[in-house]
Amino acid sequence: MKKALKILAVVLALVLVGTVFAACGKKATTNEPEANNQGTETKLKTVTDGKLTMATNASFPPYEYYDGKTIVGIDAEIAALIAEKLGLELVIEDTEFNSIIPGVQSGKYDIGMAGMTADEDRLKDVDFSTSYAKGVQVVIVKEGSDIASLDDLEGKKIGVQEATTGDIYASDDYGDDAVVRYANGGVAVEALKSGKVDCVIIDNEPAKAYVAANEGLKILETSYADEDYAICFKKGNTEIKDAVDKALVELINEGKVKEIVDKYIPAE
Ligand code: GLN
Repeated sequence: MKKALKILAVVLALVLVGTVFAACGKKATTNEPEANNQGTETKLKTVTDGKLTMATNASFPPYEYYDGKTIVGIDAEIAALIAEKLGLELVIEDTEFNSIIPGVQSGKYDIGMAGMTADEDRLKDVDFSTSYAKGVQVVIVKEGSDIASLDDLEGKKIGVQEATTGDIYASDDYGDDAVVRYANGGVAVEALKSGKVDCVIIDNEPAKAYVAANEGLKILETSYADEDYAICFKKGNTEIKDAVDKALVELINEGKVKEIVDKYIPAE
């Protein structure tokens, strides 16, 4: 609960800052004038001219995952609409979750979008957009597990995706030694199936997808933490942040973001 309140406070602050920035943000232009509805002469400086380069970790359904060789999902679709509004071509680069923030900081990517929680600690390293979706950290266990609630996690081996909020919170609450870090959710779930860990803490939507795809797993009813997802930017890169945030806020107000989320997460 404490965590939820902390995150809520950060997100409210971000929304306020985002709104102010969005209100006075520079307008972006494009190489393809017909795709640009912003109508100014300013040209948005991106990592690669004319492109919006987004870093993600494409093992996080339904936010980002592979359909054949193409990365699809909620984030991919929202980012495509943002790029379109800015008159840029979207390029999605798949990398470890752990490499997204360093890559954004070093100027390798324009944005990081990966079901990423606007977490207070990350604000030291990157700036965040307005939040566009909610996440919940949940616990996956094997059916028949003796873990029935969060209280039973004490003394257990907890699998997480390295450097995610699940990792950060579980390490804080249950100690570093209890936490086993994996490169992505899929590998963590394999470790649960083969008994290397007793549970996996991960975001609720990928958790649902992993449980649906694997026999003998279930999600605990009590959730672990509530979160807000946002796009991250290099600290101080207000030009990209303002332009992307403005486009994102427009998409939220136009109902486009909800449409995309509802398409991938049908109401139960
Ligand atoms: N929401 C979690 C975080 O930001 C997990 C994101 C992910 O694994 N793609 O840490």
